[in-house]
Amino acid sequence: MPSQPVTAYLDHAATTPLRPEARAAMAPWLGERFGNPSGAHGVARAARQAIDEARDTIAGLLGCAPNEVVFTGGGTEADNLAVLGTHAARPGTVLASAVEHHAVLEPVELVGGSTVPVDGRGVVDLSALSAALKAHGDVTLVTVMTANNEVGAVQPVAEMARLAHKHGAAVHTDAVQAAVWLDIGTVSASADLVAVSSHKFGGPQGVGVLVARKGTPLHPRQVGGGQERELRSGTHNVAGIVGMAAALAAKAAAREEEAARVGALRDRLAKGLLSEIPDAVETAAPDGDRSHLLPGTLHLTIPGVESEALLFLLDEAGICASAASACASGAQEASHVLAAMGTPLAATAGALRLTLGWTSTDAEVDRVLDVLPAVVARLRGAR
Ligand code: PLP
Repeated sequence: MPSQPVTAYLDHAATTPLRPEARAAMAPWLGERFGNPSGAHGVARAARQAIDEARDTIAGLLGCAPNEVVFTGGGTEADNLAVLGTHAARPGTVLASAVEHHAVLEPVELVGGSTVPVDGRGVVDLSALSAALKAHGDVTLVTVMTANNEVGAVQPVAEMARLAHKHGAAVHTDAVQAAVWLDIGTVSASADLVAVSSHKFGGPQGVGVLVARKGTPLHPRQVGGGQERELRSGTHNVAGIVGMAAALAAKAAAREEEAARVGALRDRLAKGLLSEIPDAVETAAPDGDRSHLLPGTLHLTIPGVESEALLFLLDEAGICASAASACASGAQEASHVLAAMGTPLAATAGALRLTLGWTSTDAEVDRVLDVLPAVVARLRGAR
């Protein structure tokens, strides 16, 4: 349990509470309906049918055919399968944006790939991508996330795909954060491979999907029982898959209303904090234009404070926030995303990511507006 009662949860990009629809859909599969869907008897067949139905639902909502859905153990596994699996099937140069999540960057590094720069707003530089495609000459995969997990910048996936396809390269997009707010069937439609993760949109943790469109060269990274059309062996996480489908459907039904409501909350939070904290900068929207950002993300750099001290005092006040992406150790590391955006090193020391989600309320925004400016003033005074 947290040491303090939580008064405001602003770390939805790390994970978000389970939606009630997902919890209800999962319950039978954690109880009496326990079959292994690879079996032949009635109990197994029931599990198989549940997976088939979830696959149909997810395919419809992600804009692909059911047999293009590959269930995985989360977003990281989907990204690894996309990068390492396409490289194994068709070796060549892999290009990634410099602001990808480590789940993409590390496999890209493993296969000796290169990165493409972004601008000061966190958006990939299309002319640099075009130049890199020409310079390398043997690019087989371009991977650019649909939206960034630290600053929330939405990427020009369609334009990027057009360039990549012109050079014969396949396209992967990590849509893990984008799937919370955008219609993936539209914004990621031009990508050959699309990764999503259930726990970011209100499904359970440890389950995700790689959409692998028909004809995309892809080798498995995990072999064994041959599940998922030989692309991802391993007994299915039936409850997880059923819960993910229910969460995705609930999210899709509420998406426009939630995006408008939460976007307005985020804007109110931004306005209040920027007016109350001298010299604070909205990292990916220094001019106040948030049109390229996800509605739930507010990323600030606050000069004269250290993120670690800030997060500690916020936690003491029951406010959950983050400095950058969550990493396994929980330790703060310098952000490669801010470095790629050209954020001055002195400013990155005071980075703060506040991410809102489907459960966010006006009361939580009020709480942060009450506490954060005072905490910053206190830390600045102590220097
Ligand atoms: N990609 C992005 C953009 C993310 O934000 C995350 C999670 O933080 C992941 C991939 C990894 O997803 P998972 O936690 O399901 O492994």
